[in-house]
Amino acid sequence: MASTATVDDWSALAGEVDIPDRAFIDGEYVESAGGETFECVSPIDGRVLANVAACTVEDVGRAVAGARTAFESGVWSQAAPKERKRVLLKLADLVRSHADELAVLETLDMGKPIRESRRTDIRLVAECIQYYGEAVDKVYDEIAPTARNAVAMIYREPLGVVGAVVPWNFPLLMASWKLGPALAVGNSVVLKPAEQSPLTALRLAGLAAEAGLPAGVLQVLPGDGPGAGQPLGLHRDVDMITFTGSTEVGKLFLRYSGESNMKRVSLECGGKSPHVILPDCHDLGAAATAAAWGVFYNQGEVCNAGSRLVVHEQIKDEFMPLLLAAAERIVAGDPLDPKTSLGAMVDETQTRRVLDYIDKGQNEGADLILGGTRVRTDTGGFYIEPTVFDHVRNDMTIAREEIFGPVLSTITVGSEDEAIAVANDTMYGLAAAIWTDSVDTAHRVARAIRAGIVWVNTFDAGDISSPFGGFKQSGFGRDKSMHALEKYTDLKTVWIGLRD
Ligand code: NDP
Repeated sequence: MASTATVDDWSALAGEVDIPDRAFIDGEYVESAGGETFECVSPIDGRVLANVAACTVEDVGRAVAGARTAFESGVWSQAAPKERKRVLLKLADLVRSHADELAVLETLDMGKPIRESRRTDIRLVAECIQYYGEAVDKVYDEIAPTARNAVAMIYREPLGVVGAVVPWNFPLLMASWKLGPALAVGNSVVLKPAEQSPLTALRLAGLAAEAGLPAGVLQVLPGDGPGAGQPLGLHRDVDMITFTGSTEVGKLFLRYSGESNMKRVSLECGGKSPHVILPDCHDLGAAATAAAWGVFYNQGEVCNAGSRLVVHEQIKDEFMPLLLAAAERIVAGDPLDPKTSLGAMVDETQTRRVLDYIDKGQNEGADLILGGTRVRTDTGGFYIEPTVFDHVRNDMTIAREEIFGPVLSTITVGSEDEAIAVANDTMYGLAAAIWTDSVDTAHRVARAIRAGIVWVNTFDAGDISSPFGGFKQSGFGRDKSMHALEKYTDLKTVWIGLRD
């Protein structure tokens, strides 16, 4: 679609696009074993897009068996790295050439603005798959520095069958963060997208087959958590679960592992990221814009959202009007309109959950200074306006729990030490940001904050080359970067004794 495309152009495409509604197993689109389906509802206007196959334990059994057969055959797992590279680069090309279709499916399915689906999500999906395709024939095994009477070779081998379970906020991007490295090193993958957003993952499976990925190497099972996610987590022939989602469900996967075959688990879970504004930050306008976008981007449905604004009392009076002005410019609109910057919440359940948190904030004594209400109700969709609380204490529910909506909690502090203490007073440790003009302060505070990523004078910056993941109950294991390759492989030492 041209950069001049209008809401009418995107709406026309949305009306024409094929909605994938079946599971993808062993190279084919198939109904679920029991023939059951679930309604896939568009949060834009509440309409049913399709009845999608609801996979359950039987489908999981079939998909895992097919994935195992493909793995053991060696057709992918033992293919030369440059052959896997060829297929992944072709897949990245196909994602690019189907970018409009994938973007419109993403927006219809989960409500994010089309300009984000097209400009950010799908672009990054292609970039991620390309990155791991390009990487895989540049990774060497090792020879250990032993005595001269031996050669000890240390190989990295694929794990086997990897189960990937992903959330709905960046449906295809989260899936590609798992698929890119897991497939590149030779695993077979059984992917369970979130029930709220299965469409792009299903479409990607077809594109992967077109790119030349052998049947069984990528299986996609739409379905809900208890129906499809749990049997995948408990399956004894799955070697690893790679998960992005809530901390609560992440803990379930640890349990499933212990109750079954001790499969590896990698967890990217929730966050409650502090966005710290220190008094020596002189560009308060830039900080305010970043703080607003840091929490309202993607409707606040972002694991690393800067949902706690930790602001120093010395600059607070100057900062807050700038923040509110930036927030007021972010207005909910039709997600298919390229001018829209705030789309729909993913569904009615999440909308109610966020509104409940807004009620709790008020009931516990925080001051609601912007927003707080559901809007665009005439559309039949699910929209909440940007919401800001002031005078929040860090022990209030809205400062402790992940809201996953457009709600910012402002906490005032009187010193750098207090800012660090508040930033770290959370069970999460995914991300944080600091605004300061002092390089000394930046280093000191960045080191003191316990989080997987700390931004200085920016927010949510990064690219595929830098790792992503959290400390504490934000999980463990890293997505993105070359480090992600490590978790999808195991080390094998082959020790050869040499005769003199
Ligand atoms: P959930 O944890 O509810 O779901 C994540 C996935 O787990 C979905 O596919 C879901 O299936 C599945 N699932 C749910 N219940 C079970 C179960 N009992 N057994 C097995 N699988 C299950 O998260 P959301 O989809 O609601 O996504 C939001 C969460 O994801 C937030 O907490 C957010 O912080 C986190 N997240 C973390 C990121 C990170 O990188 N750290 C990035 C993005 C999001 P279904 O929904 O179909 O029932």
